[in-house]
Amino acid sequence: MATLEIRDLHVSVDTENGPKEILRGVDLTIAAGQTHAIMGPNGSGKSTLAYSIAGHPKYNITSGTVTLDGEDVLDMAVDERARAGLFLAMQYPVEVPGVSVANFLRTAKTAIDGEAPKLRTWVKDVNKALSDLDMDPSFGQRNVNEGFSGGEKKRHEIVQLELLNPKIAILDETDSGLDIDALKIVSEGVNRFASQGDKGVLLITHYTRILRYIKPDFVHVFVDGRVAEEGGPELAEELEANGYERFLKAGAK
Ligand code: ADP
Ligand code: MG
Ligand code: MG
Repeated sequence: MATLEIRDLHVSVDTENGPKEILRGVDLTIAAGQTHAIMGPNGSGKSTLAYSIAGHPKYNITSGTVTLDGEDVLDMAVDERARAGLFLAMQYPVEVPGVSVANFLRTAKTAIDGEAPKLRTWVKDVNKALSDLDMDPSFGQRNVNEGFSGGEKKRHEIVQLELLNPKIAILDETDSGLDIDALKIVSEGVNRFASQGDKGVLLITHYTRILRYIKPDFVHVFVDGRVAEEGGPELAEELEANGYERFLKAGAK
């Protein structure tokens, strides 16, 4: 069973004025069977954490470790991370001109499994994943992210999640830009994935809204580049009622 361990992670970016530290010692362990939510105000470094685990070249890891079942993730190329069982939607290009969703998914599946999926079952699987996300089969013929609405991008993310079937999924702002119906459909997709029992989910979000549909086992409040407080689902309820103010005041001390 998979475990992703993040230990004392420090990450900086290069700016005109030199390096700027954004992550300041992140500790987090996500084990198979667990759903974790990271919640924090804008600018607290949540996406930086996701990009750093994904291997985005802009983010410099200055110290700390990230391991998947003891294997050094930070030492892996981006595609190796995916093959190791990490799902990081943002590792993929924003737009892939001339590549259809169907071909993109098949290429990704082939890269991860090390062999091409059997055509007959694959077509069925793709159509099932699309219909689970309440999408028309013709979506498979669209070019990846070309003219996708915010909602289509997020649904496409969950289609990838269902088909690529990773061990650990990191979902950054999966709820952004979704109307209430789309939010339910996308949440159900995440819940289907998580309910397999041997999967880990890290759900990164600014708003508590999605946590009405996806119930995290653990909630981590993220402030100023590190985890400020951890708890169970009741912590999300406190945030829904009172916002981040208490944590920001504590952080400003
Ligand atoms: P969140 O996802 O929580 O909103 P981000 O990880 O996107 O936060 O950003 C955290 C902080 O790092 C912000 O203050 C942002 O301005 C800063 N930041 C991120 N990338 C860069 C960059 N390339 N150069 C300068 N500052 C950056
Ligand atoms: Mg944000
Ligand atoms: Mg962000």
